[in-house]
Amino acid sequence: MDSEIYYSNRVCQAIPQSFDIGCDANRPSHSRSSRQRIALISDHGDPAAEIGFEEAGGQNVYVRYVGETLAKLGWQVDMFTRKVKPDDPTVVQHSAHCRTIRLVAGPERFIPRDEIFEYMPQFVEAFEAFGRHEGVHYPLIHTNYWLSAWIGLQLKARHPVRLVHTYHSLGAVKYQTLAHQPAIAPTRLAVEKQILEQADCVIATSPQEQEYLHTLVCSKGRVEIIPYGTDLEIFHTIPKAEARARLGLNLDEQIVLYVGRFDPRKGIETLVRASVKTEAFAAGRLRLIIVGGSCPDQPDGQERNRIERIVQEIGLNERTLFAGQVKHNMLPFYYAAADVCVVPSHYEPFGLVAIEAMACGTPVIASDVGGLKSTVLSEQTGLRVLPQDTEAFATAIDRLLINKVWAIQLGACGSAQVRKQFSWHKIVSQLSELYQLLLSQQISQ
Ligand code: UDP
Repeated sequence: MDSEIYYSNRVCQAIPQSFDIGCDANRPSHSRSSRQRIALISDHGDPAAEIGFEEAGGQNVYVRYVGETLAKLGWQVDMFTRKVKPDDPTVVQHSAHCRTIRLVAGPERFIPRDEIFEYMPQFVEAFEAFGRHEGVHYPLIHTNYWLSAWIGLQLKARHPVRLVHTYHSLGAVKYQTLAHQPAIAPTRLAVEKQILEQADCVIATSPQEQEYLHTLVCSKGRVEIIPYGTDLEIFHTIPKAEARARLGLNLDEQIVLYVGRFDPRKGIETLVRASVKTEAFAAGRLRLIIVGGSCPDQPDGQERNRIERIVQEIGLNERTLFAGQVKHNMLPFYYAAADVCVVPSHYEPFGLVAIEAMACGTPVIASDVGGLKSTVLSEQTGLRVLPQDTEAFATAIDRLLINKVWAIQLGACGSAQVRKQFSWHKIVSQLSELYQLLLSQQISQ
């Protein structure tokens, strides 16, 4: 499915914050709907946004697919996010029963997530105003990221709602990897504990996250493990020669791929420093492709500039291609063209890129952290190595580039594993069952 075409047909015109929807297809059908209603709240991860730049990444993808798949399963889904551009439509209709609603909370511009907490009370007010205007109540709210958890806690205190939460990233773990904690850290840690204690259920996206929650955040709270999924219609195997021809890439090169945001915690520096230590680099056959990131003047440009400087300094510039942001419908060609995909994160709550690469039949070398511990099975679907260990990454890359037959076997095994475990239909069906169970139970106070 080409998401760009898919969305453009369904976008309503921008509407004022009074929520006069002005799109006839919208309000009457929703008001009459007999479907069970759910609100997904994703303060900064706009499910209708382009993925791959600024802070748009796995959370946006997760909320979008959970919402769209829930609608296919019979739910009436509204996904709420903060409006970051005045020209963006306030409502994006994804399908007949699923839409994104952009609420005004603070200035209508991108603000880094560590700086938007002060606007969250406005978000709560805008959410309630929307509900009053539409005459709807959401008996179930699923929040995403700690900022949305705070919103959910305010709503739970005022309304009879079941509250489900997905963290996407845990401050308690992330701050261990940072030299300096941001000013917001104490607030975030307190909210992460409150939501675990007070939500009707918290979703851990990996066994590792569940362990972190109970050891680092709070021993109380109901936690269910339900991972992320991936779109198997988009991410599938393509013959390597076909993928390389499509992208204009040389068949003789050995391609190492990174896909993701430019963020220091993603560990791109580890990968570039490891690349120059490989035998493929020494033989002049290595091609490193870095996918993701926007223009130099965007907030993620600082990390991109830093990585580009390192690439220059270590003499890797001739062998590196910065492909920029790539849409989902083109990404399978990059994954399939690569001999190996590397996920060198210092901390990775789940790591969608790993299962996307695996779905495309490409072996993955990943840091031995977070969700990657359960998705990348070492010596079976790829290799896991210690984060930030450039020597270990270089050795792992060499092992897979040298033993091509084995690499193909690992790729095939990864593809089969993703098909079996990680389709969105399978994942969202589990969420749907959990929601139904919670709705059938007494509301916890
Ligand atoms: N992505 C993309 N285009 C890009 C770079 C990344 O569509 O140019 C997508 C990628 O396919 C994946 C998501 O962004 O679906 C990143 O999710 P992940 O969980 O790996 O990392 P996060 O961004 O959540 O830290």
